[in-house]
Amino acid sequence: MGRVIVVGAGVVGLTCAVRLLEAGHRVDVVARDLPLETTSAVAAALVHPYRAGPADLVERWTAASEAAFAELVAGSGDHGVRLLSGTDLERGEIVAPVVDMSRYLPWLVARVEHLGGTLTRLNLPALPDHGDLVVNCSGLGARLLGADRTVLPVAGQVVVVEQVGLERFWLDARPGGPSPTYVVPRESEIVVGGTDDDGEWSRTPSPEVAADILRRASALVPDLATARVLRHKVGLRPGRPTVRLERVGRVVHCYGHGGAGVTLSWGCADDVVALA
Ligand SMILES: Cc1cc2nc3c(=O)[nH]c(=O)nc-3n(C[C@H](O)[C@H](O)[C@H](O)COP(=O)(O)OP(=O)(O)OC[C@H]3O[C@@H](n4cnc5c(N)ncnc54)[C@H](O)[C@@H]3O)c2cc1C
Repeated sequence: MGRVIVVGAGVVGLTCAVRLLEAGHRVDVVARDLPLETTSAVAAALVHPYRAGPADLVERWTAASEAAFAELVAGSGDHGVRLLSGTDLERGEIVAPVVDMSRYLPWLVARVEHLGGTLTRLNLPALPDHGDLVVNCSGLGARLLGADRTVLPVAGQVVVVEQVGLERFWLDARPGGPSPTYVVPRESEIVVGGTDDDGEWSRTPSPEVAADILRRASALVPDLATARVLRHKVGLRPGRPTVRLERVGRVVHCYGHGGAGVTLSWGCADDVVALA
């Protein structure tokens, strides 16, 4: 098997790197932002398809990821993935994997390195023109690296608050409603969202928006109204009408996962390996 350069160290790039290494490739990951600095680190992260297409592939990729996350939950390791029950105001009571990205991204990096891969900080002006194969997982960066103007930011703000004893998630992303509202507990804190602002490039949290997020979330979970706020974050989702997953010459493109990069990660990585 030849050498593969994976561009991007968000959840998509790292998951592709793991699957490519498992398939026997030599893999080097390069990225401008290291994992905990990426959009992926801001994700809530509930395994649930949101703002991604096309519908048929999203359904298949989500199912593959759910199976992969269930396997992680059944095993051991400090991956930060749990299966939680929750209320989706559109679908009713559901059980879904919930991922603590502050633990999961370092776990993915450790997995890459354990399998013999490397991770290097590198800001690329263009995709590398050497190496057997390049996998382009640059998220929003694909606007430049994929020369793809259909990639646009969908900004999302969250408020992270202290744990108040919550062990289930809440989600209100009903079509036609205002911004999505979600409350996703981790072991030691709770991620409360959110917003989805198309075309917005700013990553500066707005105090007014934070107050509105907490107001909406407190209507679902009243204890949040008095919870101590730990931090505010904004992430820029890599929006695109549909995920681009295709091979063009020696480049496999895998970007444009919108609000579902965690949800689609393992399913897309399997397809990337098939194209490699
Ligand atoms: C508030 C919020 C909540 C979310 N909640 C969820 C959720 O509950 N469930 C879910 O599935 N998804 C969720 N998402 C969406 C999810 O975070 C994204 O879909 C996912 O992070 C995209 O991953 P990625 O690896 O493609 O991109 P990113 O995480 O953005 O990583 C891109 C990588 O490419 C690198 N790169 C870009 N340009 C260059 C360059 N020129 N040179 C070198 N490297 C480059 C970057 O440095 C980075 O390492 C949420 C997002 C936000 C903002």
